[in-house]
Amino acid sequence: MSTPSPTTPSPRDNSIPRTTLSERVAAKLAQLIVDGVHAPGTSLPTEPLLEKQFDVSRVTIRDAVKLVANCGLVKVRHGSGMTVQPPENWQYLDPLVLFAHVNSPRSQKMLSEILEVQHFAEAELATLAAQRRSEANLARMTALVEQMRLHLEDHARYTALDLEFHEAIAQAASNDLLRNMLAPIHRVVRDGYMLTTELVGAPERSLEGHVKILHAIGRSDPQAAREAMNEHLDLFREHIDMRFGETRRTQPSPFTRQPRPEITTPL
Ligand SMILES: [Zn+2]
Repeated sequence: MSTPSPTTPSPRDNSIPRTTLSERVAAKLAQLIVDGVHAPGTSLPTEPLLEKQFDVSRVTIRDAVKLVANCGLVKVRHGSGMTVQPPENWQYLDPLVLFAHVNSPRSQKMLSEILEVQHFAEAELATLAAQRRSEANLARMTALVEQMRLHLEDHARYTALDLEFHEAIAQAASNDLLRNMLAPIHRVVRDGYMLTTELVGAPERSLEGHVKILHAIGRSDPQAAREAMNEHLDLFREHIDMRFGETRRTQPSPFTRQPRPEITTPL
């Protein structure tokens, strides 16, 4: 695996919103560990070697190592270096570990699992939102859908609005635990949202899905909201498969698609 300098990130790195140099180095280290370049039980290269490899300062390396240690990927022992930990010690919901899995060719199963968890959570949240939404919640969701309609061509903006819309649904559902559970997953799938938004026709189809979800929540129809969300996420899954040039799904979706009533009300 090549290791471009973190100061000149590859396009893959660009797609991840990292803010500091040490976070970018940590992401790279996490990737090397998850990809198996640094196997569990082995030692990471020493700080001076990492400094040279990433072309950054010792302080940056130390901060980066702290980050990968915090999520259980390595253990730092004074005097005996940094040991890569076994996968059972990894904190899979930490965005650093999740990102590395999503990007790892060895871990496509992980991406499928993330998408399944997202699907279950979002379908439930849409159902609850239809039961519990306030007028203010609905106004917020409607405004976001209108904004998406205006920014179909601006993929970055559309992606941000898309996630805001899903977060607005989570807020309307009024279940903070479920909402918090989804937050790190949203940070991970942001990449996927961005990449699939670039597919021809994808934003238009995605917007159609958002309108259906919005209408169902607006009508306070939990069943229709669940079905519209299921359909929307099935489409996202299809787009992910298309975008990465393979169909990972060898079994039928666990999110059984049922015929739903046509929604004809204009927004
Ligand atoms: Zn969406």
